[in-house]
Amino acid sequence: MKYAMKYAMKYAMKCGQFLLLIPLMNLAQAADDWASLRHQMVLTVNEHARQTGRITGIGIFSDEVLAALGKVPRHEFVPKMVRLWAYKDRPLPIGEEQTISQPFIVALMTELLELDSSSRILEIGTGSGYQAAVLAEIAKEVFTIEIVESLGNKATKTLRRLGYRNAHVRIGDGFLGWPLYAPFDGIIVTAAGIDIPPPLLDQLKPGGRLVLPVGPQGTYQTLKVIRKSAGGEIKEDNILSVRFVPLTREKR
Ligand code: SAH
Repeated sequence: MKYAMKYAMKYAMKCGQFLLLIPLMNLAQAADDWASLRHQMVLTVNEHARQTGRITGIGIFSDEVLAALGKVPRHEFVPKMVRLWAYKDRPLPIGEEQTISQPFIVALMTELLELDSSSRILEIGTGSGYQAAVLAEIAKEVFTIEIVESLGNKATKTLRRLGYRNAHVRIGDGFLGWPLYAPFDGIIVTAAGIDIPPPLLDQLKPGGRLVLPVGPQGTYQTLKVIRKSAGGEIKEDNILSVRFVPLTREKR
C-alpha cells in the first residue's frame, strides 16, 4: 500500500491532479482501518472467551483460531449497508432474514470442532460464507451447504474472489448432509433445529465432533458438542445458551 501511495502521489503531482489523490488516500486508509478494526475484534473475542470460560470450558482460543479470525476479511462477507459494523462482536443481517453469526460464536464453534490442517469439515448453513472461510483457513477441506439459493450463490462468489479454493458450496437441504464426501472429521451446524439431524450423526467419523445449536425458536437454544467415539458411541455436552436462526427444511 505504501508503494501504491507513493506512486499515486508522484502521478498526481505530475498531472497536477491533486483531486485524484483524495479518493486514493481514502482507499489506502480504508485498508489499514479494516486491518486494525479486525485486530481489535480478535482481542475483544478472546476477552469474551476469558469472561465465559467458566461456562464454556474454553477460556482462551487457540493460536490457529485467533489467526484465522485475524485473517478473514469479515467486511467482505456482509452487505455494504452494515460494513461499518463488520468488526463489532455482534451478528449482522445478510439478507433473506438471515444473519452472519457473532465473531465470538464463530470462534467458539471453530474451537469446539478441534480441527487441524488435515480435517475435512462439513458446515450446514453457509449464509455469507464467513464461517466457512474461517474453517478453510485451518482445515484441509470445507464442504458447506446452504438452503437459500441466492445466499449460496453469493457466498460461492465471495469465497472464490477471496481465493478459498478448499471451500465447496452446495445449494440444498443440509439436514441430509453431503453423503458423497462423508464421513467428516467434524460437522458444524449454524442454524438451530429442535433435534440432532440423524444423517449428520451417520456422516461423522468415529472420533469426530458435531457442533450445533439445538432448541426451539423464539427463545434460547443450547450449543452442543456431540462426540462419536472410536467405537461409535455418542456423548453429548452442553456448552452455552445461544440464539440462532431456524434450520429449515424447504428450499427457497
Ligand atoms: N454460517 C453463516 C451464518 C449462518 S445463518 C455465516 O457465516 O454467515 C444460518 C444459515 O443457515 C442461513 O443462511 C439459512 O438459510 C441456512 N439454513 C437454514 N436451514 C438450512 C438447511 N436445512 N440446510 C442448509 N442451510 C440452511
